[in-house]
Amino acid sequence: MRRIICALCALLVCITLGGCGRDETADHMFFAMDTLITLRLSRDADDARMAEIFAGAEAIVTEIEKNLSRTIPDSDTSRFNNSASGIADAGIHFRAVTERALAIARETEGAFSPTMGTLSALWNITGGGPVPADSAISEALSHADFRCIAVTDAGIIKNDSGIQFDPGAIGKGYAAQKLIDYFRGTEIRWGLVSLGGNVGVFGEKPDGTPFKIGLTDPTDTSRTAGYLLAEDGFVSVSGDYERYFEADGVRYHHIMDPATGRPAESGLSSAAVISADGTLADALSTALFVMGADKALAYYDAHPGTFEAVLITKKNEIILTPGLAAGGGFIPAQ
Ligand code: ADP
Ligand code: MG
Repeated sequence: MRRIICALCALLVCITLGGCGRDETADHMFFAMDTLITLRLSRDADDARMAEIFAGAEAIVTEIEKNLSRTIPDSDTSRFNNSASGIADAGIHFRAVTERALAIARETEGAFSPTMGTLSALWNITGGGPVPADSAISEALSHADFRCIAVTDAGIIKNDSGIQFDPGAIGKGYAAQKLIDYFRGTEIRWGLVSLGGNVGVFGEKPDGTPFKIGLTDPTDTSRTAGYLLAEDGFVSVSGDYERYFEADGVRYHHIMDPATGRPAESGLSSAAVISADGTLADALSTALFVMGADKALAYYDAHPGTFEAVLITKKNEIILTPGLAAGGGFIPAQ
């Protein structure tokens, strides 16, 4: 029996704002980029202006989605994926995201690999599988090398016509970053955004306490494993409980190991990354999940000052990066 579980609308991180009356904040929710997007802002303007600010935020996400979506037929991603050798007229978001994605792919030695679109389509995780044949996985993997894409003055080019760009593990973090950048340019003093497992916060709450971001317990997704305390910045989570199907008692989740073309079996069930850079946080949460704890901690040592992380193993051990442990930025659930 195969169970299909799609946590599309589930907020993967719960957010608590201790000490803030609801009337001090204004909320706005909408569905875009395949996920529920929640915005919560300090109510620093009248209703008309708050509505205008929210409309501006929604317009930013819509524009990013129109550029990046794999399902909108005339998006840059679709045009790029359907082209033989790339596109010359990419919009700013597609260009920025491909450039960043390729840089992170190089830096993580391919643990983050944004060119596995054929493989994701083959696995059809959200559609419930089935598990592909080995030969089909090998074939898909032979058109998944990120080195076949380059960002040039002439456009975003590819030298493998079969390669498919997949912004799934970076696009929402990029959008979170753009939203926070936008809010910082308004009169709003503080707030947060949440896009399916990617949270961004800015400013200081009136009571001076940090934002508390709950991390889902992978063994029981109705529970919280602990809380991250964040001042300004971004938290992204990748977990094997987010999107998966089960066949013959095995869970096939949506985070692929580019080395095998199969769901990553790294010993982790979730990886959360905290960074001042929202795009990086999203991509790295996926990369660290693929790497597993030992390689993730070595990667942390090699990139001082760029991020902190919470890794939860399949045995339900919680591993904190040294900076997070020293700073007391994580509070385990009781
Ligand atoms: P979510 O999209 O559920 O928030 P992630 O940010 O971890 O979770 O992104 C997972 C998505 O990214 C997958 O659904 C797939 O489209 C793509 N993906 C899967 N494995 C990788 C990988 N190793 N590198 C880059 N993208 C990946
Ligand atoms: Mg990600």
